[in-house]
Amino acid sequence: MRIDVVTIFPEYLAALELSLIGKARQDGLLDVRVHDLREYTTDRHRTVDDTPYGGGAGMVMKPEPWALALQPLVAEPVAAGPTVRPTLVVPSPAGEVFTQAMAHEFASLGHLVFACGRYEGIDERAIEWAGEHFEVRPVSLGDYVLNGGEVAVLAMVEAVGRLIPGVVGNPESLVEESHADGLLEYPVFTKPSSWRGRDIPEVLLSGNHAKIAQFRRAEQFRRTAVRRPDLLASVDAAGLTATDRAALSEAGFDVVDGLLVRRDPAGS
Ligand code: SAM
Repeated sequence: MRIDVVTIFPEYLAALELSLIGKARQDGLLDVRVHDLREYTTDRHRTVDDTPYGGGAGMVMKPEPWALALQPLVAEPVAAGPTVRPTLVVPSPAGEVFTQAMAHEFASLGHLVFACGRYEGIDERAIEWAGEHFEVRPVSLGDYVLNGGEVAVLAMVEAVGRLIPGVVGNPESLVEESHADGLLEYPVFTKPSSWRGRDIPEVLLSGNHAKIAQFRRAEQFRRTAVRRPDLLASVDAAGLTATDRAALSEAGFDVVDGLLVRRDPAGS
């Protein structure tokens, strides 16, 4: 997979040389190229920003350096074939929220380009222009505001990169993770079995794989109900086993007319 990142802080992306993503690059699984937006300015001061039309606080990124930086990425042939338009991910708190499903979608693409905004963001006309050459996706990391797109890109590249076959050593570990099946992961434990007066759940020492699987699934439901009850709205109630229902009931959720509904604490 080919990934291009355009930024005014290329050094921010140095973290992509480390750990699993760094190794995937060395192994040729990921081709990550970082471009300095200032290389595409034409003035002595390498200016990338200017004051906003209409007034207001802060500065806005000028459109021309963006067009000049992105243009070569349109034309360059990529592994997926020259007819496939690259996807341009524009990190923005005003974008669609990044999810594991989106990470899977992006991992299936041949070429991703990331445009890291700074200041108050990028002149909207640059994004419109890019739409003629790229599949443009404004994407938010979450409902808060960062200083720039670089941190969001680090998070997205890591989430996408680890889904590329061969990047994570044991592909099984991708299956049992939080969000893989719409639920949060169960709690995990390692040796010693007893630590500072705390014992691991006994079932994990039983060697009974069916019982362990049942325990873990119940824990997934319990944890999701407590921490992210919103995720339960997407659970297919028809596919729930009696043990799933018992775990959910214990966590305060019942199946009513095929839907998971939080029980009224007052019992009314
Ligand atoms: N004025 C913008 C707004 O209110 O929507 C925020 C600009 S922010 C200070 C500068 C840059 O940080 C954005 O252009 C974007 O690239 C990045 N950024 C900030 N928050 C983000 C978030 N939640 N997700 C992704 N990128 C974000």
